[in-house]
Amino acid sequence: MADSAREPRLALVTGGARGIGRAVALELARGGYNVAVNFRSSAEAAAALVKELESLGVRAGAFQADVSNREQVEVLFKRIREALGPVGVLVNNAGITHDTLLMRMKAEDWDAVLSANLSSAFYCTKEAVRDMARAKWGRIVTISSVVGITGNAGQANYAASKAGLIGFTKSVAREYAARGITANAVAPGFIDTSMTEVLKDDVKAAISAQIPEGHIGTPEDVARAVAFFAHSGSAYITGQVLAVDGGLTMC
Ligand code: NDP
Repeated sequence: MADSAREPRLALVTGGARGIGRAVALELARGGYNVAVNFRSSAEAAAALVKELESLGVRAGAFQADVSNREQVEVLFKRIREALGPVGVLVNNAGITHDTLLMRMKAEDWDAVLSANLSSAFYCTKEAVRDMARAKWGRIVTISSVVGITGNAGQANYAASKAGLIGFTKSVAREYAARGITANAVAPGFIDTSMTEVLKDDVKAAISAQIPEGHIGTPEDVARAVAFFAHSGSAYITGQVLAVDGGLTMC
């Protein structure tokens, strides 16, 4: 969705080198945004994506940082500001799973998932709103999950982090609504990425049977919802959670 009513703005996509983040980076670039791609370990994929983004006519850069680490996030934003300017759109996308049943879940599984999925959004949003408040304009889009709404056996840590992101998003939305900054969440259902490719075929078939649309979604399905919230025309929409799940939850 092209956003032609303005100067090119810079979008930061955390964990943007692959999966949903990669699709979001490409969709935003097609809409005319310059894009900073954050990656933790996928350096080659990030470099290839930057070339692809530049071929779409926008400015882009790849920036390594573990966003679960507060100091690294501070350095990340400093480097992005120096290279590409202030961040106008933040997409909190980076995420991991360490799935197991509660009785087997170690404190390390809990801490790792909460820091990568939830604390990362706190660190990045805190940095980004400094730029956005100065510009009196900003879009924060956070990738939650339908399991943050429904819960899921074997994912107590992941579901808690994704539910936390919804409370976080609504609180930030309230704090910044009067300053031209919106905060919304996208809650994907089952999307075809490396996060779900570990599922066995019979599990995937059982999941698809539960989805009214009858199939697992694509990263591009999620990217289009992110681009909608990021658009300058979505100024009167904040604190919302949009499920992209083929009708799985309908809540
Ligand atoms: P992938 O496993 O394909 O990609 C995860 C991305 O997150 C990678 O780019 C990875 O970077 C990055 N990442 C993980 N930890 C960190 C970190 N500490 N710092 C920086 N980057 C990090 O997953 P998806 O694309 O499927 O997931 C993207 C988001 O969507 C996640 O938040 C996930 O929870 C959410 N989601 C996914 C669903 C699905 O069905 N796939 C459903 C609902 C939500 P690198 O490769 O560089 O390590």
